[in-house]
Amino acid sequence: MFQLIDDGIYRVKSSHGSAGVSNAGYLIIDEELAIIDTGLQNTLAQPYLDTVKAAKRSPMDVKWILLSHAHHDHIGSANLLKIYFPEAKLIAPEVLKDTLSNPSYHLQKNHFNITRSKRLRLAFRQDPFDNLQKINVDEYFNDADTISLGEGSLHAISFNGHSIGHSLFFLDRNRVMFCGDALSILPQKQLNYYIDLTGDAAGFEKELTFLSRTKINTLCPIHTEPSLKAPSARSIIQASLEGFKMMENQILEGLSKEQTSEQITDKVTKVLNIQWSSPYDLLAREQTVIAHLKKLEAEGKIIKLEKDKKEVYSRR
Ligand SMILES: [Zn+2]
Repeated sequence: MFQLIDDGIYRVKSSHGSAGVSNAGYLIIDEELAIIDTGLQNTLAQPYLDTVKAAKRSPMDVKWILLSHAHHDHIGSANLLKIYFPEAKLIAPEVLKDTLSNPSYHLQKNHFNITRSKRLRLAFRQDPFDNLQKINVDEYFNDADTISLGEGSLHAISFNGHSIGHSLFFLDRNRVMFCGDALSILPQKQLNYYIDLTGDAAGFEKELTFLSRTKINTLCPIHTEPSLKAPSARSIIQASLEGFKMMENQILEGLSKEQTSEQITDKVTKVLNIQWSSPYDLLAREQTVIAHLKKLEAEGKIIKLEKDKKEVYSRR
């Protein structure tokens, strides 16, 4: 399944997404070819190959496979894609070196805090971290590095919000921004962005503000459709910023005395009527609220205390 979205740019999908969230990546065709993100485990290799063939190009022309960040639904087909496209170099943000050497362990422990009880609940519905092996990265890149592609270039831009080492890629020839999971992950739901435990809510707001001032012709998120028609890239970014502020205001206004992050999360998701489909109910809900609480604490708006061996929050 693929769709030509701009001159030489395809969105490539498979049917493996969970409810409301598509499993997808992008293929850029130039003198050389580049793949951006690899989808859930062993799902996108054949769709990428079909797209390369439909564009009447050889699998040997794929020069780069780029990873925007280390989440399981972006790295899952990376090793298999290297077999399908043997000339391609797999490149990833350098700060993710350790994570990509053992993604299953690092994602469960550092990114999502998958406790034993959460693990049992995930296993029951097919654990997304099962058998997630070491990713065979060839080279690493850093913020502001340029990745050559035919006559043009892709520029790596670090986006410190959604998770550690998250990167955007800007294709200069068409002013297209491949934005990974920087924005909301569900269609038209501005409150369904998420920040994992390695992410940064202050960074999220700062980077979104930067994006809102950048001239972008087409915004290409992974889990939602590109901004080909209205709403424009600018209005999608604006809506994401508003969603962020709405969440933060609700956390602050709804905070009564000494509540745990779990209690705050329950209250906020109820009041704002945020619906998370599986597995994001376990991966996104509380983690995002914790990221906001850290930001509010650093800004001196709330305080964190320890009570009966539990961390609780109060307004200042
Ligand atoms: Zn992600």
